[in-house]
Amino acid sequence: MKLVATVNEARAAVRDAKRQGKRVGLVATMGALHAGHISLVRAAKASCDFVAASIFVNPTQFGPKEDYTKYPRTLEADRHKLEPEGVDLVFTPAVEEMYPHGATTFVNVDEISERLDGRSRPGHFRGVATIVAKLFHVLEPDAAFFGQKDAAQVAIIRRMVRDLMFPIEIVVAPIIREADGLAFSSRNAYLSPEERRQALVLSRALREIETRYRAGERDTNKLIETARAVFATEPAVRVDYIELVDSETLGARAKAASGTLAAVAAFVGTTRLIDNVRLG
Ligand code: AMP
Repeated sequence: MKLVATVNEARAAVRDAKRQGKRVGLVATMGALHAGHISLVRAAKASCDFVAASIFVNPTQFGPKEDYTKYPRTLEADRHKLEPEGVDLVFTPAVEEMYPHGATTFVNVDEISERLDGRSRPGHFRGVATIVAKLFHVLEPDAAFFGQKDAAQVAIIRRMVRDLMFPIEIVVAPIIREADGLAFSSRNAYLSPEERRQALVLSRALREIETRYRAGERDTNKLIETARAVFATEPAVRVDYIELVDSETLGARAKAASGTLAAVAAFVGTTRLIDNVRLG
């Protein structure tokens, strides 16, 4: 497993693999790796001959009052998790490497970037689209692997890839959860034991939506009310949004249908968590 921190080294390593006819897969992460990330690495290994993982806490996707400085940085442990998975290249650039001094070019995926998390986190998806575009240019993967956990991010990246004609296959892997239902997230590390328990309300609310949908309820407002009632059982948790949207456009839906995305975001203490489920 090769570790590189510069764009030039990363490019050279990938081009070398491509010269050997290898199919290159990319797993982009912010580190503090957990089972969700590892599932993406395994999906990449299963369909690619050369797997690159990037670890970069991207400053432009954090708002001024968000957790950029305290975001967990655990490079040593991350390396030890990637090595046994057979990852070929780990790219860990410094901020100045990805944002050369005076960088003023950004990628903005209009409209859908203002929905779901984009509404509560202005500028977040501009930061995401920009860094993913940069990583795509540097690493030129044949396929890139993303988690359904960040469903809005998936919609934005798919749109960007289509609009900017990146010759890259986007593969989306399912949400990996702990045994009790909590979706793995690097931010779970912020939770106290009591908050860790309260955080289960997100997956519980989504399961309730799913149950009512399966029982025949299609009215979005009613499904949202069901989830609100579940959240009400944990008054310490503050709901940011509960929405049922089209999974491609992230536009609100009046009637739920197969493929509709039910997505929630909530603050548990000061930690903002997200989760979702696709109906049907
Ligand atoms: P992050 O390091 O949070 O930027 O996440 C890197 C990638 O891992 C993204 O594509 C996420 O959607 C994915 N990911 C994060 N958590 C999970 C999870 N619990 N299950 C599956 N994929 C995940």
